[in-house]
Amino acid sequence: MAERGEGDWVSRFADEVISEAERRGTGGPIVCASGLSPSGPIHLGNLREIMTPHLVADELLRRGVPCVHLLSWDDYDRFRRVPAGVDESWAEHVGKPLTAVPAPPGSPHANWAEHFKAPMIEAMTALGVRCRMISQTEQYTSGAYREQILLAVRERAAIDAVLSRHRTRQRAGSGQEGEYFPYRPYCELCGRDLTTVTAYDDETTELAYSCACGFGETVRLAEHDRGKLVWKVDWPMRWAYEGVLFEPSGVDHHSPGSAWTAGGRIVGEVFGGERPIGPMYAFVGITGMAKMSSSKGDVPTPADALEIMEAPVLRWLYARRKPAQSFKIAFDQEIHRLYDEWDALGRKIAAGQAKPAELAAYDRAVTTAEGPLPLTPRPVPYRTLASIADITTGHAEQTRRILRDLDGIDDPAAARPRLDRAGRWVELHLPADQRTRVREEPDEELLDSLGPGERESLRLLADGLDDWSLDGLTALVYGVPKRQAGLPADAEATPELKAAQRAFFALLYRLLVGRDTGPRLPTLLLAVGADRVRKLVGA
Ligand SMILES: [Zn+2]
Repeated sequence: MAERGEGDWVSRFADEVISEAERRGTGGPIVCASGLSPSGPIHLGNLREIMTPHLVADELLRRGVPCVHLLSWDDYDRFRRVPAGVDESWAEHVGKPLTAVPAPPGSPHANWAEHFKAPMIEAMTALGVRCRMISQTEQYTSGAYREQILLAVRERAAIDAVLSRHRTRQRAGSGQEGEYFPYRPYCELCGRDLTTVTAYDDETTELAYSCACGFGETVRLAEHDRGKLVWKVDWPMRWAYEGVLFEPSGVDHHSPGSAWTAGGRIVGEVFGGERPIGPMYAFVGITGMAKMSSSKGDVPTPADALEIMEAPVLRWLYARRKPAQSFKIAFDQEIHRLYDEWDALGRKIAAGQAKPAELAAYDRAVTTAEGPLPLTPRPVPYRTLASIADITTGHAEQTRRILRDLDGIDDPAAARPRLDRAGRWVELHLPADQRTRVREEPDEELLDSLGPGERESLRLLADGLDDWSLDGLTALVYGVPKRQAGLPADAEATPELKAAQRAFFALLYRLLVGRDTGPRLPTLLLAVGADRVRKLVGA
C-alpha cells in the first residue's frame, strides 16, 4: 500500500496545497472550492469543476489533513434568458435572481435554481462526492458579505484601475455611464437587476438607484441585502472570505483580463487575501449524444452518464487525466472500449502489474476517504451485457438463463449494477438500425438456396451445440470451417481458413438475425438458445 497515492497529479496538488497552507500559516481546515451556476441543466463537462477539487480534497482527507470542499451555488445570479422548451411567459423573470424565478412547469422544486441543483446533487451523491454547499442567495440576503460589499464599494476606484489595465476597449461612451460601481441592486419593486446606481455617499452609504421599470429609491448600502457584487469582484471576494486554497477553473476564465487574472489582483489589493492554487482545466467533450436527446433537455448531464456507466468508471475518467488534459465521454459504442480498458486495468492490478499512477487513479475511482463505492461483484464485459440486453430486449428470465450459461452466474444481482447500466445504454443509445432482432421463423428461402458445403457446416454446428458454454461455443464456431477443410482443431489460421470462417459467420448471422453482422456469435448463440438455433439453421 505504500505507493498508493504517489506519483499522480492529485497527489502532487495535495502536496502543493499543504505547503501553501503552511506558508500562509492559516489555521483551520484547508478549503478547496467549486462553483456552479444552476441557471439550467448542469452540463456533464462541468463535472470537472467538482471532480478536480473533490479528488484533491479527498486525498487530503485520506492523509488525515482536515479539509473541506465548498460548493458555491451561484444561485443569486440573474436569470439571463428563457431556454428553449420553457414557456415564453418566463421572459418576465429575466433579470431576477435564479432563486426568485419559478421552477419550470411541472417541477416539484421551489424555484428555478433548486430545480437544476437537485439532479446534480443526486449525481454527486452517487459519485461519492461530499461538499459543503453554500447558497449565494442565502449569503447575500442574510448580509453575510456586508463588510466585503462596503469595502469593495469604498475601493471601487482601485478595482476600476485593476480592471482598466486588462480592458481592451475603453469603457467611456460605450453605454456605461459615469463612475464604475461594483455592486448592483435588485430592484425593490420588480425584483430585476435592470438598475443603475445614480448616486452614492461614502459617508452615509446612501445609494440611489433607478430601474428600467421606472422605480427608483435611495437605500443605505450598510443595511441593504438585495444586490450583489459583479462577478469579477464577487469571485475574489469569496476567495478571501472563505480562505480558499484550491479552486480550479475552466479555460474560459483564464484569458487576459478574465475573472481569474483580474481577481488575483483584486483579492490582494482590495480584500487582503490571496488567490488560490487554481489549475486551469481543459474541456471535456461528449461523443455520441447527437442522436438522442437528454431526459432533461438537450444537454448531457452527469445523471445521463450515470445511467449508462457505474460511478467508479465515471470517477476514473477524471482521476486518470490531469486537469489540463482534455478527454471525451462516450455515449456511443466507444463506451464498450472504455469498459474493456477499465476491466483490463482491474486484471492488471489483481496481477500486481499496475504502475503507481494507474493504481492511484483506480484507487481514487473505487474509493473515497469515506469508504468504497459500489462495484459489480461479477464484472461480465460491458459489451457482452449490452448484447444480452439487446438480444433479449431486457427479458429478465432470458437474461438469468444466459448469465448462468455464460459465466455460471446463478443470481443476476451479482452482475449488477453493470447489467442495468448496459441495459439502459441499449435502450437509450443503441440506434434502432443496429438493434439485433432474432428471427422468429427460419429463412426458408435462404435455407433452400444453400449448397452442400453450407448445409454441412450448419449440421456440424447443430451437432456441436452440446458444449453449451461460452468457451465451448467459441471453439465450435471457429472449429466448423476447420473440420470442413480437414484441419485439426488447433490449426493455424491461414488466409483461406479466415475467409471460410468469415463466410460461415455471415451465413449464421443472416439465418439468426437477418443481417450480415451482429453481436459476437458465441454470445448470440447463448442468447438465442440451442433449440431455437437448431430451428433457425434448419437442422
Ligand atoms: Zn424594477
